[in-house]
Amino acid sequence: MSVRALLLLILAVPALIVGGAMAAGVIIPVPHWGRDYVLSFLLDPEGEPLELPAIAGPEDPARPLVVLDAGHGGRDPGSIGRGAGGREVLEKDIVLALTLALRDELLKEGGIRVALTRDTDRIVTLSQRPEIARQLGADLFLSIHADSAGERRDVEGASIYTLSNEASSEAAARFAERENAADALNGITIEGQSAEVSAILVELSQQRTQEDATEFAALIAREGDGRVRFHPQPRRSAALAVLRAPDVPGVLFESGFVTNDADRARLMTEQGRQEYAQALARAIRVYFARRALP
Ligand code: ZN
Repeated sequence: MSVRALLLLILAVPALIVGGAMAAGVIIPVPHWGRDYVLSFLLDPEGEPLELPAIAGPEDPARPLVVLDAGHGGRDPGSIGRGAGGREVLEKDIVLALTLALRDELLKEGGIRVALTRDTDRIVTLSQRPEIARQLGADLFLSIHADSAGERRDVEGASIYTLSNEASSEAAARFAERENAADALNGITIEGQSAEVSAILVELSQQRTQEDATEFAALIAREGDGRVRFHPQPRRSAALAVLRAPDVPGVLFESGFVTNDADRARLMTEQGRQEYAQALARAIRVYFARRALP
């Protein structure tokens, strides 16, 4: 092989590699960067940028924003109950219908902005749900579910979940670790802070967020009294991933049991859903009204 041919080969190999990688989608050219190329490895769905939902209601960004989160969706049906004639009743469908009813109830009276993590039958990952609320700058997050008691058909009633204390500070620590580089929580900028200071600021933000969440949970219990059929012990706390946003107060509302005939009947009729929606909408309004006070 001549020296010239060897040189040509040496020069051609990197070009072939880059060209091949581009063709394979590993590297994509960025046109406005001119001659440069950016490495863009295929991301897993968790790492993909979020598609943020539209915000309904008043255009004024100063108005409070609540993100409603219908649980499950797509290939994840959630709890499964049996309706008349053994027909399957899926949690994902029940909670979407209830979420849409609540959205309509809130928009009807106006003054509050509303966004939904999903308004169709599609999958949204657990980590994306609170992240949507965070990225929209939401003031409140409400996740709506329906429970299953397995073979126990007599277990009924709604429950209101907040994040457990243990899970809360654990989430704060993990969040601090992850978001250490740059972030703002409840208006506290933690960019440039040491890891220790960041951890403390996140912990403080998380504490305030959990106090707000607890207050909202109490309001749901209060406004639901006489309107919603509650479980005998309706107030609960658990390590729920969907409630782990350190800066958006969040509550998970288990509307009832798909395995219980009475609960299912309430959740599957428009009038039944309306009762839930009115109670939840009132709790949201009172929560925001308290914060609007000077
Ligand atoms: Zn669920």
